[in-house]
Amino acid sequence: MREDLKDMFAIFESRGFIVRYFDTSARARDFICDELKDLDVGIGGSVTVEQMGLFEALKNNGNAYWHFFGDSSAIEKSSMAQAYISGVNAISKTGEIVNIDGRGNRVSSCMFGVNRKKLVYLCGVNKVCDDLSQAVWRAKNIAAPKNAQRLHRKTPCAVKADKCYDCRSPERICNAMVIQTHPTSAQTYIVIVGEDLGY
Ligand code: SF4
Repeated sequence: MREDLKDMFAIFESRGFIVRYFDTSARARDFICDELKDLDVGIGGSVTVEQMGLFEALKNNGNAYWHFFGDSSAIEKSSMAQAYISGVNAISKTGEIVNIDGRGNRVSSCMFGVNRKKLVYLCGVNKVCDDLSQAVWRAKNIAAPKNAQRLHRKTPCAVKADKCYDCRSPERICNAMVIQTHPTSAQTYIVIVGEDLGY
């Protein structure tokens, strides 16, 4: 456990989140696979999940759906899955999880699923911000431009991935921002990894 994150963990736990910290991706991956071993699992777009090799590990458990590695039906199957995994764009020491989405499949699946039993937020320590305003800034000006660049979007931010230009592009990936402060319907885990992961 990192001393500097203890207060943040206490805030989230006081609100009903289950918080776990792991020094390495490998340990976090083993924990998640064990926690979700009896459930089918949907995954939202997440470079963190990709870097951790989590999808491959979950496939060995049973059913896992991810549109990064499947056809578009994977989004529908993910939304109906018993468990859902998402990265975060930022998390604040004051107790907020911030995610931006283009289509809305990821943020809506985090908030609700008719079969949802468990939700897992995955987060490298590089996503931890001091407060909500910094978390929102990070989501807009670091995570979103880098994702736009990764997705080869025709947006001004994708050229240098340097900041948000609040574009009006039809390829804009920032159409909804969700700030979560308490668990919604599912048992909700926040898994922090002591590595830089994702954007
Ligand atoms: S609003 Fe447009 S410019 Fe800003 S990060 Fe999103 S896609 Fe890029």
